[in-house]
Amino acid sequence: MDQEPEELLYHDMTVLSEAAIGFVELDYKSDIYKYIGENLHKLLGDSIVIINEFIQSEQATITKHIFGVSETVDRVLFRTLIRPNPFKSSFPISVSAQRNLISKRLIKVQDGLFGIGQGRFPRVLTKVAELSASITGAYTLGFSWKGQLFGNAVVLLRHGNKLREKSIEAFLHQAAVALQRHRTELELRKAHAELEIKVEERTADLKEAMRDLEKFKLAVENASDLIVITDAGSNIIYANDATSTMTGYLNKEIIGKTPLFWGDKSDPEHGKIWDTVRRTRKYAIKEVRNIRKNSQGYIAETQVAPVLDAEMNIIFCVYIERDITKAKEIDQAKSEFVSLASHQLRAPLTSVNWYTEAILNGDTGKINDEQKKYISEISEANHRMIKLVSSLLNVSRIDMGTFMIEPEPCDLIEIVKSVVLELRPKITEKKLEVEENYIKINKVMIDPNLTRIIFQNLISNAVKYTQEGGKIYIAVEIKKDSQPRKSLLITVKDNGFGIPKNQQDKVFTKLFRADNIKEKVSEGTGLGLYIVKSILDHSGGEIKFYSKQHKGTAFFVTLPFSGMPKKSGSRELSATKL
Ligand code: ADP
Repeated sequence: MDQEPEELLYHDMTVLSEAAIGFVELDYKSDIYKYIGENLHKLLGDSIVIINEFIQSEQATITKHIFGVSETVDRVLFRTLIRPNPFKSSFPISVSAQRNLISKRLIKVQDGLFGIGQGRFPRVLTKVAELSASITGAYTLGFSWKGQLFGNAVVLLRHGNKLREKSIEAFLHQAAVALQRHRTELELRKAHAELEIKVEERTADLKEAMRDLEKFKLAVENASDLIVITDAGSNIIYANDATSTMTGYLNKEIIGKTPLFWGDKSDPEHGKIWDTVRRTRKYAIKEVRNIRKNSQGYIAETQVAPVLDAEMNIIFCVYIERDITKAKEIDQAKSEFVSLASHQLRAPLTSVNWYTEAILNGDTGKINDEQKKYISEISEANHRMIKLVSSLLNVSRIDMGTFMIEPEPCDLIEIVKSVVLELRPKITEKKLEVEENYIKINKVMIDPNLTRIIFQNLISNAVKYTQEGGKIYIAVEIKKDSQPRKSLLITVKDNGFGIPKNQQDKVFTKLFRADNIKEKVSEGTGLGLYIVKSILDHSGGEIKFYSKQHKGTAFFVTLPFSGMPKKSGSRELSATKL
């Protein structure tokens, strides 16, 4: 018996609603297209339903789901007659077909069975298919939602079927909603899975970083140097184990205080390193005197490294301290030994000098030429020994900090000129051309003895390390580019042997003699420039040089125009170079 149309519609809608809810509740792995196909087939009675899923806008993948087709029909119609079998591949969907499916949703296929979209099926085969499956009409139904096409169903009506367009449309609507949700859920799950992988990777990275951090922490905690981290205001926020070993203070006694807490306040260097770091925002290193909790003093080499933000503000500082008291004591003992030994050596060398001079002067009677030659050799060697011993004495006085700086108003040019005069015999002997260029200046507050040592070393080096017939240029001028702090610039330049590039960083170190001159010039101790640099370091001056092998060398010394600062000490340095 035929059902009333309204009743039927009501019935269909119930099925559809259930189906729609069902779609949403479907497990994401289950085949939602199959579900739609089954329900459509149920709705339309004895019809054939083929479901296509669209993967991209221009491509459709035909699902395997064909509903309402008996084994025979399926075989005859879809697997034998139609070749190549289109149901296993994807095929293009024309733009106009897509537009139609989105806007109209339900299209009566006028032009044969598979007229929609492809046209790949010969009309004659289509006819055979229509006849063998007694197909009377074909529709294509689009599943679209908000302008997006998810797929379509091709419905082939058989004899006696009717397509109730209203209920079908409602079904399609719900199917599209369900598909949309289904896809969203799929995407969500995919994103979730990807996120999980990312989280896992990140967790592994973090674990690795934590392990590194742990190692780093262990290294810092167990380091023999005192390591402290302070905030921007230099208040301690972390202190390693060595801190209490070195200072005697417990962690809780120093957290929140500054490392200056155990500094010796009577030390003139006290606190200076922090001022430097705050001013320059750069790493600094300084030697200071500190005091342990038990009142014992010690000498520390302190280092502060600031950590800055993007605006160059200090966020925190790493403060490191090493107890160098022992090393200092050993250094001091070495210097004292050198000082003592040099001192003791000086007296006999001076005696040798007197006696050789006396013999050479004929005080002990006439000597023949051969004797004179030998005695002269002894005298020469003795002179060199005296210079070496005096240089060693100078170095020990510098290293022990016992040398003094006694500034007094001096004519700097006079000093340079007198040094050149002293060296004149050697200059003449080597046929050197000397160009001098001095500005007129008033007297400056400098230590004449130390200034003489500086010139003696630089000019005698230029003489010594320049080949015969070479050129030397000596100049004293005022350096104007360092206003408002004017300074005196002294230049000693030669076109001699030069210093090999790979050894230039050692020029101011003790006992350095460059490879290129060792054989050419045997005379030399390698202490002269170390002494010059030390004097300048203590008198506010600077020394720089430029040198090229076989071309020459230029030394540039700057001294503050205001003069050298006074430095008290018990010893003078002696001029040794000439
Ligand atoms: P030394 O007693 O050997 O001259 P210095 O300390 O005065 O010792 O100089 C160290 C070394 O630097 C020299 O041995 C030499 O190799 C190099 N040197 C210094 N001045 C010059 C120069 N004007 N030209 C070439 N080499 C120089």
